[in-house]
Amino acid sequence: MKKSALLVLLALSLVLGAFALAGCGAKEEAAAPETEPAVELPAGAKAIKDAGVLRVGVKADVPNFGLQDAATGEFAGMEIDLAKAIAKRIGIAEDKVKFEAVTAKTRGPLLDNGQLDLVIATFTIKPERLEQWNFSKPYYQDEVGLLVKNSSGIKSLADLNGKTVGVAQGATSHDAVQAEADKAGVKVTFLEFATYPEINAALESGRVDAFSVDKSILSGYLTENSTILPDGFSPQDYGIASKKGTDDLTTFINGMLAEMETNGEMKTLLEKWSLN
Ligand code: GLU
Repeated sequence: MKKSALLVLLALSLVLGAFALAGCGAKEEAAAPETEPAVELPAGAKAIKDAGVLRVGVKADVPNFGLQDAATGEFAGMEIDLAKAIAKRIGIAEDKVKFEAVTAKTRGPLLDNGQLDLVIATFTIKPERLEQWNFSKPYYQDEVGLLVKNSSGIKSLADLNGKTVGVAQGATSHDAVQAEADKAGVKVTFLEFATYPEINAALESGRVDAFSVDKSILSGYLTENSTILPDGFSPQDYGIASKKGTDDLTTFINGMLAEMETNGEMKTLLEKWSLN
């Protein structure tokens, strides 16, 4: 009798102990939420935190920068990680970052109409764009290049005389190629497309002789039948864009980028995506 009472007591204390432990675990989690902002939030970042989501325009077709998995719909790349780092700094959970695929043509208007808080999408900082949107300090530099079919025999920009170059609407590529062609005394004509897959299809079918955009973007379309020419021109500094006038948000983002530079996180991030 005594022994069984003791056993009951023992079992009871074990059960109570387990509850107490579970309780402790919950308390610990509550004490250190993953989403606590690391720094004091300026008004622009606080507004995003209060909304509970960070809406970011990213590329869906640029490997290592912003690429969407067709099967899962998930986005991955250096620019996706940057968006997640900003969310963390604001105090927004990773699953509350809403990514939206943008193109060179759509990214600006989507910021203007308030559908996006940020654009992190190989967006080159240019004087005329600084008049329309806020940009952070640069986080990456690329250059404009040319993708051609191996069978075309085109080896350099000079070989493009009399040829047609496919570029994206809203991109810097048209002006960059034009300036470079003018310098070299080469005459080229342009065809403009809304998306990169369309330019690539035009290159495949022979409607254009070369596909021009930043080399990082071209690398996503390189096949064994094509080549990115060694010519590279018009350096492109990528910045994180937000609506014009959101200055405290831009300063907040610049603070994060500067910190990532000094603590080595930026280097690690570039290495992770083979961009160093
Ligand atoms: N980076 C260039 C631009 O901002 C190329 C286009 C693109 O990013 O899609 O215009």
